[in-house]
Amino acid sequence: MTDIDQSPRAANLAPSAPAHAGELSPYEIAQHYFQVAADRLELADDVRAVVGSAYREVQVQIPVRRADGRIHVYSGYRVQHNGARGPYKGGIRYHHEVDLDEVRSLAALMTWKTAIVDIPFGGAKGGVNVPAGECTQDELQQITRSFIDKISKVLGPTRDIPAPDVNTNAQTMAWMMDEYGKLNGYTPAIVTGKPISLGGSLGREAATGRGVIMCFSEALESLKLTPEDTRVVVQGFGNVGSWAARIVQDMGARIVGVSDAFGAVQSEAGIDAHALHAHLAEGGKLVEFPGVDTITPDELLGLECELLIPAALGGLIHAGNADTIQARVLIEGANGPTTPAADAILHDKGVFVVPDVLANAGGVVVSYFEWVQNLQHFRWSEADVNERLGTIMSRAYQEVAARASSDAVPLRTAAFEVGIERVVAAARTRGYI
Ligand code: NAD
Repeated sequence: MTDIDQSPRAANLAPSAPAHAGELSPYEIAQHYFQVAADRLELADDVRAVVGSAYREVQVQIPVRRADGRIHVYSGYRVQHNGARGPYKGGIRYHHEVDLDEVRSLAALMTWKTAIVDIPFGGAKGGVNVPAGECTQDELQQITRSFIDKISKVLGPTRDIPAPDVNTNAQTMAWMMDEYGKLNGYTPAIVTGKPISLGGSLGREAATGRGVIMCFSEALESLKLTPEDTRVVVQGFGNVGSWAARIVQDMGARIVGVSDAFGAVQSEAGIDAHALHAHLAEGGKLVEFPGVDTITPDELLGLECELLIPAALGGLIHAGNADTIQARVLIEGANGPTTPAADAILHDKGVFVVPDVLANAGGVVVSYFEWVQNLQHFRWSEADVNERLGTIMSRAYQEVAARASSDAVPLRTAAFEVGIERVVAAARTRGYI
């Protein structure tokens, strides 16, 4: 057995950040939510210019000779958005449609996210525009090593610490750590999301999905819901979606709809999330899972349910489909799944939205624990990791909910307010602004 995720799950070939006609780009979306909160905080223009833009943007060329004999040239990006509160932190995504606009938007979200959950990191993100699903493991390894060589000067355990994101995994992190180590010596704290055998943290793989469901648990009382009364729809059944589904099902909820990049299915009687995960891990297709009916991706969003978890890519909930949503609560496992136009529609419909910057922070929280364990050279138990994750997620949720209630604003605006305030306070105390 290996602890490296080498499941045959097909790589994500859907657009990285689908745009709905006439709506904003990923960066414009991130900026929109930032500006709404900055307006409420009456942030001065010069302060906004400092904390609202990226500190450093690196773009490098990655030429690789692929199995077809030709040299393919990819672009690799690392955007360090803000480091006032600690080293830059954020994942690296492999997807053929990755571009600077998208990486920049995701880097900004990381700045607010790490501040909202109050861990000592800044925000960053990276990506390579490689068609990951078409590459062999050898090609991915070459691309990964070449990318790390070229950006290693701006990385470091006290500078910038990458992690996995869409189409990258523990194996990718192992190559990154190894390549960085060739130049700098053994440095496990250079990346998080590593295999357990190379200093990864117990509990990291499930952490984002677990954090999503911890937010659901926090919201239950105000929503007057119980897990047993909750029907759940999950858009995107990858790392985040499948863990969220398995954990919420174990609490007593029923999964009634699931989608991935290749299709969508429903079952009133319930879809066993554990069995579905095993079916996909063995190479099965979602639409061939026994006992389900095939539906369209838009029909999935319109299913009757109490909880909807978008856990795929950005921009999939937009002005063209938000009105069909029946859920009472939407918890954003994905980054940027809801466009501002869709957010306004959901607000008018009374759907309770827990935003990405809070809801999917579980991953970076356990990445923080992994970094701490690496620096201490001491492994914590999984129970310890999950308990500490629960403490941080619960505190962050309650702080954001209290702000939303005192300011009479949605959770998203409240979360951005809390995050921006903390970043501005750190930047001011350092003397940047
Ligand atoms: P993943 O690659 O493991 O899973 C993505 C899933 O979405 C796959 O099942 C894929 O088939 C599906 N998908 C792609 N396009 C789709 C579409 N158009 N409709 C429905 N399904 C579609 O990725 P992941 O790590 O689970 O990340 C999912 C999202 O969560 C991303 O937005 C990522 O940035 C965000 N996120 C991930 C983590 C983490 O720890 N993995 C942490 C924070 C945020």
